[in-house]
Amino acid sequence: MAPVPTLISRAEALDRISRARGEAPCLMCAIVARGVGEVVAVYEDDEHLVSLPLYVRRWGHVLVTLKKHVTSYTEVDTELWARTNALALKTARAIEKARAPRRIYVASTGSSGGELVNCSEHLHVHVVPLYEKDDRPADVFSWQAGVYVGTSEELHQLRDQYLAAW
Ligand SMILES: [Zn+2]
Repeated sequence: MAPVPTLISRAEALDRISRARGEAPCLMCAIVARGVGEVVAVYEDDEHLVSLPLYVRRWGHVLVTLKKHVTSYTEVDTELWARTNALALKTARAIEKARAPRRIYVASTGSSGGELVNCSEHLHVHVVPLYEKDDRPADVFSWQAGVYVGTSEELHQLRDQYLAAW
């Protein structure tokens, strides 16, 4: 059976992340260190973690995270960032193969307001599959309408789909 993740409110998601994260100063560093909730990795090497975020607007969302704590494009090494984007491309291709979405957004977003509960300054790239004709960035990158959470089993099923397409 296809996974049917549960929709929870933005407030509930923020509360869960706050409790899981504790006092960790950087969300992305905490994820890389397995210090905040379950990390379901699709790929990992010395420089990057490619993983399934626990709270998503579109099921199938993947996160490509630099392991090093880097918060600006001035301080990131050019070759390293090229490898980050090569991994985002590989991820997008795996998503196309595994889930056949209508479109995939690839975006390095992050917080403009300092380190937030669910949004980090630490550089990372979102790879987000879209399944609806009328999906827009505002629908996908805002949590106002709630976020989906999968069970550990659903996340592992998704990871296995991506590994098969990797
Ligand atoms: Zn960090």
